[in-house]
Amino acid sequence: MQIPFRKIHEAPKPFQLEEGGVECIGTFWRSGKDKIAIEGRLKGETLFTCDRCAKSYKASIDESFSLEAVDRPVKVEESLDMVECLDGIVDFDSICRSEIASIQSEYHLCPECEERDDFEIEL
Ligand SMILES: [Zn+2]
Repeated sequence: MQIPFRKIHEAPKPFQLEEGGVECIGTFWRSGKDKIAIEGRLKGETLFTCDRCAKSYKASIDESFSLEAVDRPVKVEESLDMVECLDGIVDFDSICRSEIASIQSEYHLCPECEERDDFEIEL
């Protein structure tokens, strides 16, 4: 789903899309002259890579996110929750993809390694 920046108004609008088995539902609205606010929730199943044994495993995610899209270059000192839309298009698919990727890049253990962790704690 792609929406031109200039067509986004102050009244919040809903969006819903799916990205590789993860549903992304939320709202977006114009929060300033060159700013769009996006709030959403990711829900579904996706593949993670275990940080201990490097095995891929499927797990469910259910995470909320909120970010701002701007149609100008983002400065380094600005918030990490800011995305550039330099071509004047807000690309919701790529926003959801990168939100999912950032969840996947967090520290994760597969169920077996997590169990082993509990076991070590009991000792
Ligand atoms: Zn593991």
